[in-house]
Amino acid sequence: MLQHQIVGNPAVPQPNPNALYFIYVQPGTRVVQGGSASCQAFCGYHNDISGQIFYAVMPYPGCQGCTGGMDAFTALTSTSSHELCEAITDAIPGQGWYDDANGEIGDICAWKTKKVGAYTVQLEWSNKAGKCI
Ligand SMILES: [Zn+2]
Repeated sequence: MLQHQIVGNPAVPQPNPNALYFIYVQPGTRVVQGGSASCQAFCGYHNDISGQIFYAVMPYPGCQGCTGGMDAFTALTSTSSHELCEAITDAIPGQGWYDDANGEIGDICAWKTKKVGAYTVQLEWSNKAGKCI
């Protein structure tokens, strides 16, 4: 279990409110969460353990639904930025910034991307700007 792999393991940075563990899953492995599966219902997700440990799970984007026409690496940088931003604004899913109609800040802007340096990231919703930025 993730909690046991992290807590007390000297090889892993210990959890704190500003730590987010990204778990990148090897190609060909289907991730199931809450009864739905990667490449069918999601391309990544973030969650918490008891409000103490924060993590994101990133299945390998081995399907058209999770590449959005991008190569796998670019799809991963895009979905990783999506989950990173949501883990900040809605660290305990549903208790932070969450819009009942549109979801979290990344969901509103899904598949809208831009380049930051050499990397493709996803746009995220801005209340101030009133759009995806
Ligand atoms: Zn999302």
